[in-house]
Amino acid sequence: MSIASQLKEIGADLPEHVTLVAVSKTKPASDILQAYEAGQRDFGENKIQEMVAKWEELPKDIRWHMIGHVQTNKVKYMAPFVHLVHGVDRIKVLQELDKQAKKYGRIIQCLLQIHIAKEETKFGFDAGELEDVMLNLHEYEHVQVVGLMGMASNTDETQQVIEEFSSLKELFDRYATRQNWNTLSMGMSGDYMCAIQQGSTMIRVGSAIFGKRNY
Ligand SMILES: *Cc1c(COP(=O)(O)O)cnc(C)c1O
Repeated sequence: MSIASQLKEIGADLPEHVTLVAVSKTKPASDILQAYEAGQRDFGENKIQEMVAKWEELPKDIRWHMIGHVQTNKVKYMAPFVHLVHGVDRIKVLQELDKQAKKYGRIIQCLLQIHIAKEETKFGFDAGELEDVMLNLHEYEHVQVVGLMGMASNTDETQQVIEEFSSLKELFDRYATRQNWNTLSMGMSGDYMCAIQQGSTMIRVGSAIFGKRNY
């Protein structure tokens, strides 16, 4: 199936309040253009340098999402254009985003990544750390937190995935009204339907659109 028809199929089932981020990491610019021509504007990358190279080459109305683990020494390269940084998982990233956004006279929007999976390897804050971060957010004038992001365990145990997503939704609801949050980024190719049922407003889908990745 073509990229355009995959996009159409996924889009047909999406509620209106859910934004689809097409995860184009490792994929060539030509694939992104196919999706772009089918009307897709939000794209996600997990490496800053790869995202910068694609930003330089591709249409400027694309909204670029940084969905991966952020290396602070590379924040400066994406600061002029990044639309939303999903993977803010430590204070140092907030500090660097703030500093670089200020240089460009921007306010960079971001999501705080929460560790919801049982797997140790996934990044993110826990609920207690989130509370601490929220208390200190006013220090970062050039960063605006607009919600949370999380990844469920990579497992066939549907019940576990549901529980992980619903725990993230619960945490989100604890702050959303007071903080004016509007974005809960959860769900990938294998679990986005489940994520939407649990309250996701933004899904990050790669292989279901572009096919398997060759690393
Ligand atoms: C790669 C990646 C995705 C997309 O994964 P697929 O299974 O290909 O849909 C989503 N979120 C993050 C953080 C990723 O790194």
